[in-house]
Amino acid sequence: MSQPNPGHKPFNIKNDQIFVQGVGLVTPPTHTVDRNVNNLGESIYLLEIVKGLGVTVGHVFKNFFKWTPMPTVSYPEVKREIPEGYRGKHRLTTREDGSTKCVACMMCATACPAECIHIIPAESENPDIERFPERFDIDLLECVFCGMCVEACPVDAIRMDSGIYSLTAFDRESFMVTKEELMQVQPNPNPEGKVFW
Ligand code: SF4
Ligand code: SF4
Repeated sequence: MSQPNPGHKPFNIKNDQIFVQGVGLVTPPTHTVDRNVNNLGESIYLLEIVKGLGVTVGHVFKNFFKWTPMPTVSYPEVKREIPEGYRGKHRLTTREDGSTKCVACMMCATACPAECIHIIPAESENPDIERFPERFDIDLLECVFCGMCVEACPVDAIRMDSGIYSLTAFDRESFMVTKEELMQVQPNPNPEGKVFW
């Protein structure tokens, strides 16, 4: 029953059937999605679009003649409070002697879905530590701030508790943060959710 899978993929699709490695060709179950369209007006969308525009225009006129405060924040003069546990800019934690806690195990780089952590390990002269990162760069433009690197780290060497959410620069290179920069980032002094900068 089983067939070779030339692409070495876990499955491929052929004639509405799926080849599952070790099982063979299986027909996936089908499910009909009810579009919940009740009449011709809804099915051609035109009336619904006009109705939607009417709601938008209604809000425009309502706010034009009734000057109630809008829920806007005058950033950057006013900054919003960030929630507790907010994943901000990364930082590398340090030991008492100021060296990085990172042991270059590559767990964070392996877990990273964006593949934006780049580590070059080196042997440590400290007999208690096998390796350390000679380079540890994160490309913040590729990072999706998922926090997987923090979860994966076995020695609590990387955290995202800085509270820094505004990352701006004039060139792309500035978003490639190095080990030295990451070691200088401080934890948010108001971890209960207040912005501090
Ligand atoms: S937060 Fe997610 S995407 Fe960003 S470096 Fe960590 S694992 Fe990668
Ligand atoms: S930050 Fe943690 S998970 Fe990443 S290489 Fe260093 S020790 Fe390993």
